[in-house]
Amino acid sequence: MKQIIECNTETETTDDIKVPAEVLSISGLQKSYGSTEVLNSVDLKVRAGERVALMGRSGSGKSTLLNCICGIESFDAGEIVIAGKRLNDMSQPELEQLRREVIGYVFQTFHLLPTLTAFENVEFPGQLIGMPLSERRERVNYLLARVGMEHRKDHRPSELSGGERQRIALARSIMNRPRLILADEPTGSLDSVSGDQVLDLIEQMSDEFSVSILLVTHDPETTRICNRTVHMKDGQIEDV
Ligand code: ADP
Ligand code: MG
Repeated sequence: MKQIIECNTETETTDDIKVPAEVLSISGLQKSYGSTEVLNSVDLKVRAGERVALMGRSGSGKSTLLNCICGIESFDAGEIVIAGKRLNDMSQPELEQLRREVIGYVFQTFHLLPTLTAFENVEFPGQLIGMPLSERRERVNYLLARVGMEHRKDHRPSELSGGERQRIALARSIMNRPRLILADEPTGSLDSVSGDQVLDLIEQMSDEFSVSILLVTHDPETTRICNRTVHMKDGQIEDV
């Protein structure tokens, strides 16, 4: 009989069965601001291609956790491993490279660059990692078409609706072929119709590009595209 043996961060298989490895593995994460403990022994794993919703009240530590995952906040104890790389051991330039190449971001308020067109916004991360021009252009055109925005490619963010801006931001987040997208309230600024469209696209693109999603939300409806929901309370994660 075929057997699957799962270990802590690696997955071993026998015969032909392949179980997706973990893209993100956090264990025992501790973080305080002065005497305020914000993360208290956080454990969280996200597998390749998996979409995980992270829910919790304002102030429960969700944004702090995302900031630790992408290396812009330090932590006091514990371990974060992304795509096999241990953040604890990485220098600032290595963390920067990880942020550009392995992680994509979608924010509630889009964070598009206002002076760049939609095309240029999607292209920008590719420029940062030195993606060749022809590959970059081809990829931007594909991604813009994929999110239904090719007809808006020369528009600046101020000329686009919220839903359109978020679709551009989603295309941008995929540009450098990340393994993990951190989405912080991606539909929080959108009406329900646009929000639904963005959620459907996140689901489709996560499947198409085999990218995992960690989606912070306080809206239970948003969790419909997720395989699993975890709850954060007082700096701790309760798996359900
Ligand atoms: P959430 O995103 O779940 O709303 P945050 O991670 O933003 O929560 O914040 C968690 C707690 O950490 C809050 O009590 C907040 O006031 C505190 N906090 C966040 N950032 C800082 C900071 N830079 N300095 C001090 N306290 C902070
Ligand atoms: Mg927050």
